[in-house]
Amino acid sequence: MGKAYTLDKKAKCGQCKNPIKEGDIFTIIYADDGSGKIEHLLCDNCEVDDMIQEYRNTGIVSSKLSMEAAMAEVHLVEFKGDSLHRLRADARHFLLKYKKDLLELVEGNKKIGDAIQKFEEKHWLPYIKKYWNDATMRGHEAKIGDMKAMMWGSAGRVLITLEKGKYDLTMIFSDYEGQTTPNGGQQGIHAPVSIALDMIETATKAEKIKFEVEEKVKLAGL
Ligand SMILES: [Zn+2]
Repeated sequence: MGKAYTLDKKAKCGQCKNPIKEGDIFTIIYADDGSGKIEHLLCDNCEVDDMIQEYRNTGIVSSKLSMEAAMAEVHLVEFKGDSLHRLRADARHFLLKYKKDLLELVEGNKKIGDAIQKFEEKHWLPYIKKYWNDATMRGHEAKIGDMKAMMWGSAGRVLITLEKGKYDLTMIFSDYEGQTTPNGGQQGIHAPVSIALDMIETATKAEKIKFEVEEKVKLAGL
């Protein structure tokens, strides 16, 4: 963002060539050589956050992006935009500029949350929790078809990471024995939503998931 920079009347975006006027948000791109010479300006449309760009290019949702979407849900959906003034200007700008992407991600988060609930009902609550609470070791591993499941936990929280090739999805559950209804959720993700859903559904469909002690599993998903 330009500080003591005076905008030329004919200033244009170096990428899309649209005019940049006073009051517009823009970025100054400096020359690589460290001379401080201005290479060109970039308008707000052309300056796309790296995380969003990666998502648009590959469909891959990162944990950070998923958290930004959870944030967007609070401000854009729950409070219908009424709470935006409480945010820092840059955070507000991020939510509004990428509203469409973020709301799409909110939907993804919801579908993943629902799928995790089914996993919890079929596998975590009925028998994996007991296996975990009876175990003395913290690291466990299981094979589910071509996926690997890793389990690790501490302080009443248990993480199960599903890993398939370069993609992973981490779920979090409570080991409290008195809790009999699902209250787990998503803890981490590096996968397109459709693949993450497929991974959770495949795990849910498995008849039984047989975890075994695997000391190499230290901190699943983190
Ligand atoms: Zn532009």
